[in-house]
Amino acid sequence: MKHSVPPSPETNASSADLHFHTTLSDGGITSAWAVAECVKRGISFAVATEHDVVNREFPLLARFQGIESLEGVEISARAPIGGGAVKHLHLTAYSKRFAPELDLLLEWTRMGRVEKMKAQCEKLRSRGFEVTYAAFLDRFRESGCDLSNLTNFHLAEYLVEKSETPSLTQEIMGAEVTNPHDFIRLFLKRDSPFPVGSVEMDEYEPTSEASARIVVARSKGVLSIAHPNFTFEKEGAERFENEIARKIVESGVNGIELNPHAEKDWTSTVLRVRERFGLVLTFGSDCHFLSNKTDDGRHSLVGGSHPLIVGKETSFRIERLLAATA
Ligand SMILES: [Zn+2]
Repeated sequence: MKHSVPPSPETNASSADLHFHTTLSDGGITSAWAVAECVKRGISFAVATEHDVVNREFPLLARFQGIESLEGVEISARAPIGGGAVKHLHLTAYSKRFAPELDLLLEWTRMGRVEKMKAQCEKLRSRGFEVTYAAFLDRFRESGCDLSNLTNFHLAEYLVEKSETPSLTQEIMGAEVTNPHDFIRLFLKRDSPFPVGSVEMDEYEPTSEASARIVVARSKGVLSIAHPNFTFEKEGAERFENEIARKIVESGVNGIELNPHAEKDWTSTVLRVRERFGLVLTFGSDCHFLSNKTDDGRHSLVGGSHPLIVGKETSFRIERLLAATA
């Protein structure tokens, strides 16, 4: 994982960003550095949303530099989507101060994921990859990453760097795989076509209902459906609007995110769903401060925002978020 801030031009820059990552999860730079990046870009309201761990240092450091902030986290959860089906999704959460139960819930998730990463390393090893869990941890130790919060992104990055990987992937599927995103999609997911690194584990991600109980009810917070345009790409905007959104909202979720990369159909869907259920509209770049995760069609540079989130609209949405987390 390279520490870098890509010098990419951002077409729609906003003065606020409610969704990005640091080295506390799978981002490339520390909280202090992220604050400096926000200052440089004139961002006046910023919330770090790590995967499954509350970043409490970012708000403190940000406020010290005159940037307003809240506690934030991006929860890996599962939610009902109708017809008895359950979907794994990301929910960004915001609060002035999360109830302590949230830390326990997130710790359970991280512990479950550590077990999964160990099992995945073992399975890949049996398939010929020279990988051990200890060597995998060593790879990220120096980058300052939180070793209890490594994910498939880290594992894929580690694996594609290895010299035996091209020939092994050639053997497995008849093509050399050298891109971490492809590696995850092809080999590490539950529904991968060649699941050589995918394992069945007991569920370790909370339900949207349990998450809402802690975030919305106990923490007076906002729990928002992150990047629905990507999560529900397969189901489509129409089904999301007509069926899925209601199910998720009924489980207690009270926000929805407008992602910078949402196309026209998804933009109007998100706005109508927000209106219909009276949700809080959240937004953000999903910046990881990594060169391979900027302008890749999914992530943006910090402050990168949807064209609708500019000027007065930004302040209005921040006011609504603050009112909902009061
Ligand atoms: Zn994210």
